Amino acid sequence: MAIRFFNTYSREIEEFEPRDPGARPVRMYTCGPTVYSRAHIGNFRAYVFEDLLQRHLELRGYKVHRVMNITDVEDKTIRGAREAGTPLQKFTEQFKEAFFEDAHTLRIKGADEYPAATDQRYINRMIEMISVLISKGLAYQADDKSVYFRINRFPDYGKLAHFDLTQLQSTGRVKHDEYDKEHIGDFALWKAWDEEDGAVKWDSPCGPGRPGWHIECSAMSTALLGDQIDIHCGGVDNIFPHHEAEIAQSEGVTGEKFVRYWLHCAHLLVDGQKMAKSLGNFYTVPDVLAKGYTGRELRYALLRVHYRVSLNFTWEGMNEARESLARIDEWLARLREVAKENVQRSTSNAEHSTEKTTFEDALDDDLNISAALGFLFESIRETNRAMDQNELDAASASAWLDWWKRIDTVLDVEAETDAAIPHEVAQLAQQRENARREKNWKRSDELRERIAALGWEVRDTKAASKLTRRSGPG
Ligand code: AMP
Ligand code: ZN
Repeated sequence: MAIRFFNTYSREIEEFEPRDPGARPVRMYTCGPTVYSRAHIGNFRAYVFEDLLQRHLELRGYKVHRVMNITDVEDKTIRGAREAGTPLQKFTEQFKEAFFEDAHTLRIKGADEYPAATDQRYINRMIEMISVLISKGLAYQADDKSVYFRINRFPDYGKLAHFDLTQLQSTGRVKHDEYDKEHIGDFALWKAWDEEDGAVKWDSPCGPGRPGWHIECSAMSTALLGDQIDIHCGGVDNIFPHHEAEIAQSEGVTGEKFVRYWLHCAHLLVDGQKMAKSLGNFYTVPDVLAKGYTGRELRYALLRVHYRVSLNFTWEGMNEARESLARIDEWLARLREVAKENVQRSTSNAEHSTEKTTFEDALDDDLNISAALGFLFESIRETNRAMDQNELDAASASAWLDWWKRIDTVLDVEAETDAAIPHEVAQLAQQRENARREKNWKRSDELRERIAALGWEVRDTKAASKLTRRSGPG
């Protein structure tokens, strides 16, 4: 059966039909971290959900081209850099590094591209898009020199969030820098420079300033993925105003439907409230590791609940994740034993099922992970029972192991096999991975040499870098 997703735009389950699956990969854009502090595990719930989505599409034979932006200029990063007395780039760099480190810990597959909003290429694209919007009457420069999107001129505004925003009336006070807007719902495309921005500014035909957050994503997504994207994701808090604004800007410029499928994950909660920096009720990945849990345990805890259902984060939930993984580990160990032993006994005409598709079928159904895991644990129960009674032959055990290998390309929760990599080497390898992502080849080579000096060799494959012990003297 076809893959189906709940599309936020239509509020309906729709069959997934990418624009052109034969000729090019599924084009997927995922709103990335705002690098003003370390991302919390609520943010990572969104990234783990997107990872599951990408991996399932790949399991089903699609090629996926995924872009995740890095928001390194907006109000919070500017404020943070100012308060720290550090230049913006230097301030955001540490949180970018931390983001990649945590994503690695959680086994999140790297995106194909991580464009940063401050990259001059994209700033140019933002400025270009703003000019087009002004020329079409969809944007205007106010007396404060900032440029705003005119929502009244975009009839579809509000369709994603499903409310009629044009009816919003200006009530009470608006922030002082937004007094000049024509409509309370108009949002900034370009924010005119003011003293608080310090050195953070770019020249534009509308005067010096910086982009608004929403135009950043419109510019980076259309620059890298074209005018129409297959899938665009984020957490539900991104629906309004961020994604609504992205639609207005992108479609305002290109005249084409911007996104075919909008997928949003529900929040990670703490005591029934959204986990958020502003509420101070958050944990980071290192916070969870410091309590003795592993990255794969946290990955599993974030993954195991359907993405459209709110997930309450508790330590009890972490323990349940640990127990579930222990059951999987034991099961795999048993299967390996049976596969090995019985091969020596050479079992003939083994009965084994090749029809283990239910896991994938469940994920086809709007990523129904609960049903998929339900099927996994039911299978574990049954095969364990068969093994207890010596009724599972080698071929069946191997078939189950092959099946596991296949579904673990989506789950990616199997225990690490190479636990012997020293911490220092692993850390250097991670730093090198970050340097490579940023195309800092010089630093990457330096790190390779430091790793070699410790007796390890890094080999780069297309998907990842692998560490092996050097055979010669280090
Ligand atoms: P931000 O860095 O605030 O732009 O957020 C990055 C991503 O995390 C966005 O897709 C948000 O929707 C998502 N997000 C933020 N808080 C949570 C949460 N508590 N649960 C799930 N996703 C979240
Ligand atoms: Zn975005």
